Formats: sequence, structure tokens, C-alpha cells
Amino acid sequence: MMKVSANWSLIIHGGAVQAERPMPAENEAASRAGLAAALETGAAILRQGGSALDAVQAAVRAMEDDPLFNAGRGSVFAADGSLELDAAIMDGASLKAGAVAGVSTIRNPVDAARAVMDRSRHVLLIGRGAEAFAKAQGLAQADTAFFFVERRWRDLERLLARRGQPIPPRPPGAPAPSGEAEDVGPPAHRFGTVGAVARDAGGHLAAATSTGGQTGKSPGRVGDTPIIGAGTYACDGVCAVSGTGTGEYFIRMALAHEIAALVHHAGAPLRAAVDQVVGVDLAARGGDGGVIAIGPEGLPALAFNTNCMLRAQISEGGAPAVALWSDEAL
Ligand code: ASP
Repeated sequence: MMKVSANWSLIIHGGAVQAERPMPAENEAASRAGLAAALETGAAILRQGGSALDAVQAAVRAMEDDPLFNAGRGSVFAADGSLELDAAIMDGASLKAGAVAGVSTIRNPVDAARAVMDRSRHVLLIGRGAEAFAKAQGLAQADTAFFFVERRWRDLERLLARRGQPIPPRPPGAPAPSGEAEDVGPPAHRFGTVGAVARDAGGHLAAATSTGGQTGKSPGRVGDTPIIGAGTYACDGVCAVSGTGTGEYFIRMALAHEIAALVHHAGAPLRAAVDQVVGVDLAARGGDGGVIAIGPEGLPALAFNTNCMLRAQISEGGAPAVALWSDEAL
């Protein structure tokens, strides 16, 4: 039998984007600090012998609470000015999964995804039903005032103006325009998604992903994030994967599961599978984005075809590493 090493390992991402470079120094510093904090939140759980599942949930929750990232607070707006958040979590040990889509009243969609997995008979709940379920489960609620970030609204206005589409009124409950300068805030975070994959000391794998989706999306649109096998997948002995990018491509390609299938059925090394599916196949179809993945022994692998993917990684006994640009190590 294969020896299972006791090492834990965690990788997180804060979205893959085509970003202007150089990024203002304070924005780059804020991005790195946000990633480092979320990484440490998850690592603290693994360090104490906690599960991969708890670690990915905690790391994603930390990024949902950070308005820097397009997930939870700080999510981007749909074309009608609404917020529709998606999230998923998957347990590689049991292949159980939970997800929510199109929610706007749940403070931490990843917690709702976990509750769907643990406390319902279903995998994916959407909209009002998901919100009622989360409320009944006692999960923290939030309103538009909590989620609303001025620069996201400006992003929507600019995008709709470019498309020649009408600009909706500010959503009920939104704060009055703050006068925040247009270029305030990390431009790299205007799109994106957050995610985490982990391997715990017991050898179990887990993945979680959360997003506000894409600025100016059609109301009702669901991306890859909450679709198990598209933006999120985990299977012990194979790999755990979390994606970010143009969700429609990830859904069509069943991208996260495609990576797992190459490893499982074709015996591909995880890094080769990730390079093939993201670096070759996704790019060939015209999709943008990337994935983070982790193998059964905790070996991290990642690939992206944009110039920037916010990412951070730590393994037992090692120092945390944070990177943004494609020419940085990690
Ligand atoms: N994959 C996300 C979606 O399509 C967005 C992103 O990762 O940028 O909803």
C-alpha cells in the first residue's frame, strides 16, 4: 500500500486576471497581505490537525470577508445592479459536495455550501431556496449595504456604458455615492474568484471556491464555481481543484473534473494534467483563467493563462509563499 505522508499542504487563489502592470504599490501590497492572511487562517487549522475541509472553508471565508476579492463582500454586480453570489465545497474523502448559486443575503456563501453538504439531501441550492435554507440553519445574514463596494459599482457603470446598455439605479440599501476615486482599489480584483485546495495530515483532500461571478453578467447567470466538476472538484487519491476564469468555458469543459480524469484514468502526473487542461485545452478554446490543484501527497500544482493569478501556498514545515504575476515563482 502507498505510504501516506503526514504532511499537510494548502494553496489558495484570489482570481486569475489580465492586470495592468505595474499595479500601484499599495494595491499590490494589499493583495499580498489579503492572500497571506487567508492562507494563515487555513494553515492554522491544518497545523492543529484539522481537516482539509475545514481549512479550505476557513481560507475561502476569510477572502469572502475581505472586500478586496470578488467573493462575498466586494462581489461584482450583475447588469441589473443585483448581486448574485455562487460558492461550492467538496470533500475528497466522501465525494460529498455542497453548493449555492445566485444568493445575495448570505454573508458567507461558502458556509452555506458547507451546510448544504452536511445538512441537506442535496448538492446545489439556488436563489431564494438557498437563502431560506441558510437562514434556517442559523447562518449569518447580510444586506446590500454590507456587500456593496463603490469601485465595483463604478466598474459596472463603465462596462455598461461601453456596451451601450442602460445603467441601473443603485440597488436599494446601497450607501450614497462615496466619491471614491475611480482608480482606488486593486484593479486586479475587479474580476476573479477565490478558492482553496488542501491536503490534511490524514491524507484527505478538499476544495472550495466562491465568487460574485462576472461584472455585468445577465441576472440569473450561474458560473462554473458552484458546478461540481467545473470550477470545484476533490477526490481523495486523485486531486483537489479550484478554478477561476471565464466560467462558461470551465462548465463546457467540465474543467476541474477533466484534470482529475487525466490523473485518475490516464495516470497523468497532476502538473502535466493541469498544464494540458489549462495551458493547452482552455487556451485553445479561447477561455481565460487558471486553477490551483493539490495531489494525494500534498504536491501543489497550478496553471493560468493570464498575466496574473493571485495565489499563495504553504506546506507543513515550510514558509508561506505569495505570488501575483506569471513570472513569479509558485
Ligand atoms: N469563474 C468565475 C465565474 O465565471 C469568475 C472568475 O473566476 O473570474 O463566475
